[in-house]
Amino acid sequence: MAKLFYRYAAMNSGKSTMLLQIAHNYEAMGKPVRLYTAAIDDRYGQGKITSRLNIQRDADTFDAAHDFLAGDYSGQACLLLDEAQFLTPEQVRQLHRLAHTRQLPVICFGLRSDFRGEPFPGAAWLLALAEDIEEIKTICSCGRKATMHIRTDATGQRLHQGPQVEIGDESRYQAVCAECFYAGEAA
Ligand SMILES: [Zn+2]
Repeated sequence: MAKLFYRYAAMNSGKSTMLLQIAHNYEAMGKPVRLYTAAIDDRYGQGKITSRLNIQRDADTFDAAHDFLAGDYSGQACLLLDEAQFLTPEQVRQLHRLAHTRQLPVICFGLRSDFRGEPFPGAAWLLALAEDIEEIKTICSCGRKATMHIRTDATGQRLHQGPQVEIGDESRYQAVCAECFYAGEAA
């Protein structure tokens, strides 16, 4: 039985590497997969999924207007989505429907909360609908598990406000534990 999967993590957790490894495993068994990433994420060029181990693959892109139910997935063994926090709630519903009406496993990778500690709408819906949810663990600089993010400006000062989505310089984001997230609030 096909399911909707959500693999969530803080940034710099190696989730793109895991996604590409799963794609490789399917393909090694002769099963094609369809890869998607957010159109908004052009860090490495539009429509690329890139791991920090320097593996890169082309991927289809989704923006907020993309309709996953309109796709033809014949011959595909599963859908793999990176940057899934950028899905709209409606798109999460479409993917859930795809998994259960067309028996197509959908495996989403993404973040849970933004630099303000607020949920991405897509992540909130994935956590609500996915049947199989797993955390990919990464470590804060203090040694605890990192579950949140902070954003800094060009001089390294922490930012507390701003738009939820601002992709570009990844060095401006840091994955931190909740203790470090709140300890830095007063500063
Ligand atoms: Zn910490």
